[in-house]
Amino acid sequence: MAHAEVGDDVYGQDPTVNRLERSVADVLGKEDAVYMPSGTMTNQVAVRTHTQQGDSLLIEQNAHIYTLENGAVAALSGVNPRPLAGARGIFTAGDVDAAIGASHPYFPTSMTAPTRLLCVENTHNFGGGSVWPLQAITAVTDAGRRHRLATHLDGARLWHAATATGVSEADYARPFDTVSVCMSKALGAPVGSLLLGTKDFIARARRFKQMFGGGFRQAGVIAAGAQYALDHHRPRLGHTHALASRFAQGLAQIEGIDIDPAAVETNIVRYRLTRTHPHRYVEAAHQRGLWQLPSGSDAVRAVFYLDITQDEVDQALRIVAETLRALPQDDRPAQTPGGATAGGY
Ligand SMILES: *Cc1c(COP(=O)(O)O)cnc(C)c1O
Repeated sequence: MAHAEVGDDVYGQDPTVNRLERSVADVLGKEDAVYMPSGTMTNQVAVRTHTQQGDSLLIEQNAHIYTLENGAVAALSGVNPRPLAGARGIFTAGDVDAAIGASHPYFPTSMTAPTRLLCVENTHNFGGGSVWPLQAITAVTDAGRRHRLATHLDGARLWHAATATGVSEADYARPFDTVSVCMSKALGAPVGSLLLGTKDFIARARRFKQMFGGGFRQAGVIAAGAQYALDHHRPRLGHTHALASRFAQGLAQIEGIDIDPAAVETNIVRYRLTRTHPHRYVEAAHQRGLWQLPSGSDAVRAVFYLDITQDEVDQALRIVAETLRALPQDDRPAQTPGGATAGGY
């Protein structure tokens, strides 16, 4: 990064950014790519480029675009999100058909916001890093096309899905018009995401990148980190997944924890606490040196990244056990209906 060759990316003249865009487009099998400061921006620029004010989009109810991007589809694009209920983030072609509905002989089409875009998240963050089976993807994108919807993949962790299954990133990307990928999700690069699609789509997206404040001058400094992550760190994700799995198997042995280690597919471990409030537990474990996030009313989310070692996983398991032993065991709130993700992150 310190030795990156740089230019002005606003003028399309940063060679390191241009090389990164070409490399990621080739890996994903798309015509073109544009580099931006964040995955939130690549997703929101995609929504803005695909839609017009007053349109609707279909999205899973716990998806990042819907829950963690500050209402941006409404605020920045004037678009009405229509949430679908998935299982660990995964919905079906039937859900898409049901949301679009049959045309109604007496209902003027001027009364309903036209649904224009279908979004999928793979791996699914709040689903616990769950991987969409390829057939489930093509079923929903086929349904989307039957209803004349554009399709966008939030593939912030698409690298993780490919690592877990052996299905290539390009195969996962093929059914979608556009794809967003993050270079900063466990790959070791500090900043940046790319939006991919046809040449024409990406040319239009560049306008909204600039409009949303994403024109970033000598961005080659960070693009060099992203390029390094793509070339050297992608093959190491399997090791990171193995450590997440080791952590999950260790957790299953600890009293007061409910987890199915087989459900841990990638680098995210979600587990339930059966006797302790997650906020107090996360805070107490943090004081012992383990950083996690509470997730919903009774669950915890632990995420694994490039630099974590096996010794640190074992140390983390010791901290979890000690922390649970030290905390009072009767301070859990009543369960909220709807499961672990209802009403919280
Ligand atoms: C992290 C993430 C993003 C983008 O995050 P930024 O912090 O804006 O780069 C988008 N989608 C998912 C599923 C994510 O996990």
